[in-house]
Amino acid sequence: YWTRYVPSLLTKPTKEPQKKTGASLEKLLGYMKPYFIRFGAVLSLVVISSLGEMAIPHYTGRMTDWIMNEDEPEAFTHAITVMSLITVMSAVCEFVCDLIYNITMSRIHTSIQGLVFQSVLKQEIAFFDTAQTGDLVSRITTDTNDMSESLSEKLSLLMWYFMRVTFLFIFMLNLSWKLSLFTAMGLPIIWVIPKISGKWYQELGAKVQKSLAQANDVATETFSSMKTVRSFANEEGETERYRKRLEKTYSLNKEEAAAYAASTWTNSMSSLFLKVSILYYGGSLVTGGTVSSGDLVAFVLYELQFSSAVEAVMSYYPSVMRAIGGSEKIFEYVDRQPQVPPEGTLAPQNLEGHVEFKNVTFTYPTREDTPVLKGLSLELRPGQITALVGASGAGKTTCVSLLERFYLPQEGEILLDGQPLHSYKNQYLHDKISVVSQEPVLFARSVKENIKYGRDDATNEEMYRAAELANAHKFISDLPNGYDTDAGEKGGQVSGGQKQRIAIARALIRKPRVLVLDDATSNLDTESEHLVHQALLKDSNPCSVLLIAHKLSTVEKANHIVVLEEGKVLEEGSHVELLEKGGTYADLVNKQNTGFQRKEGEE
Ligand code: ADP
Ligand code: MG
Repeated sequence: YWTRYVPSLLTKPTKEPQKKTGASLEKLLGYMKPYFIRFGAVLSLVVISSLGEMAIPHYTGRMTDWIMNEDEPEAFTHAITVMSLITVMSAVCEFVCDLIYNITMSRIHTSIQGLVFQSVLKQEIAFFDTAQTGDLVSRITTDTNDMSESLSEKLSLLMWYFMRVTFLFIFMLNLSWKLSLFTAMGLPIIWVIPKISGKWYQELGAKVQKSLAQANDVATETFSSMKTVRSFANEEGETERYRKRLEKTYSLNKEEAAAYAASTWTNSMSSLFLKVSILYYGGSLVTGGTVSSGDLVAFVLYELQFSSAVEAVMSYYPSVMRAIGGSEKIFEYVDRQPQVPPEGTLAPQNLEGHVEFKNVTFTYPTREDTPVLKGLSLELRPGQITALVGASGAGKTTCVSLLERFYLPQEGEILLDGQPLHSYKNQYLHDKISVVSQEPVLFARSVKENIKYGRDDATNEEMYRAAELANAHKFISDLPNGYDTDAGEKGGQVSGGQKQRIAIARALIRKPRVLVLDDATSNLDTESEHLVHQALLKDSNPCSVLLIAHKLSTVEKANHIVVLEEGKVLEEGSHVELLEKGGTYADLVNKQNTGFQRKEGEE
């Protein structure tokens, strides 16, 4: 929905990530562009209300003069009325201004969050190999929050106080240029001294944050591996570890409190010094007759506001700059161009599902010195089960990733119905090729929603049919709430084998033309495994199946078996052919069988 609110954002040409605060500021202004009218209104309201705030010192000064001279009593009441009216008006302006500003900033905040999320999802899979999930999440939560919080809060305050400083100084100059110059010369005192003590406080603040984050890490790690902690009965150890981190934070907190007290103390001392000097000098001007006592009162009141406004500008300016600088982190993702080649246009009505790997050579971008596939050729035929076997690390899953176009092979090509994979539309490709992975991930939703995740417009009948093919219908119906049972976080409320069958149903509901089962039935018993495989080929228009398995008994019935070793095809053929050949496959089968028998014998 954010595209509706920030239309200019998505069409904007994306540039290389820039590392300068200026560039980020430019970009931020770009995001604010659609709201220029609102910001204009905010600015005028700020001007009006800051001017209004000058009323109290001004009229207090006038009243002092009247009191000193004791004339015109009705002018006194008149001054009070005008002062109150102006002050109320200024407060109303401030209220409206705050409202418009904060609403607009929240709008911009959510647009940016949505945009970052969208940009992250567009990145190529290799990007996710290196990016840390926590880091990605913090970009849309903490980082954007920090940015918009400092911007919406501090930028408005900065603007506010800046206006105030300007107007106050003009009014002060108007009252007495001598006193104003004197004040201006004293300003460095209230800048420099607090800065020194403030630095100590800031450094400690950063240390506290870091120590808190370390404590949080312990908590996150412990909670997310609760089962491991419980099975090692290490609750006390973890509590101790957490407590130690908290102790460290506490001692830093104590130091921080001292630094805070010291910095506020030096602050008030230096401003007290300035005020006393102004009163002393101002007093001498009054006795000299250059300044009236009312003017001095007004001036001192202005100066009170002025020095606190200057302090505020000094403290908000760096944090606004920091927020703008911090926004680089966010824009880095928004601007990142995904390293994927442009998608093709093919989307034929009928697809056979014939897949051919031709001399494919591939190296992961994150590990450029170790080739994973070395001239691999492989064929998947419609209505047939092709099995891929080999030791773990041989490159089986890599073949699947290439078929899904997560990565591009460096050499060779992959054809689907005779056309290169990249000539098809992305959406089409993922509709036609369904993959059930080694460790399928279910969402914390009902079983029904999990299966229909494959195709959300599927009817219930189609869902039941897919579940039956996956040999899952029976157990799902037996669950306490049937298809409405919650699968739990990451599918934690169903067993491993049940999770795999739900995942297969989710893949089948798409009616794929190519189905890949990457060790997807490893948690099923041999009986149910065969039921699933047979069901797949009983379909009226059976697809091509790529069956990857570790247990060799799983692949016996496959039409064609390919044995992979270190990214190369070692041998291929049917189960019987390969056994007769007496090569690696036959060896492996023998090993697995004898291992199995020995185990049975032991029991
Ligand atoms: P298999 O599925 O046959 O067990 P894989 O295809 O998963 O093997 O892995 C083949 C090789 O590629 C292994 O050496 C593995 O360490 C490496 N590998 C797998 N995935 C990645 C990745 N995302 N980035 C870098 N190397 C990877
Ligand atoms: Mg694998």
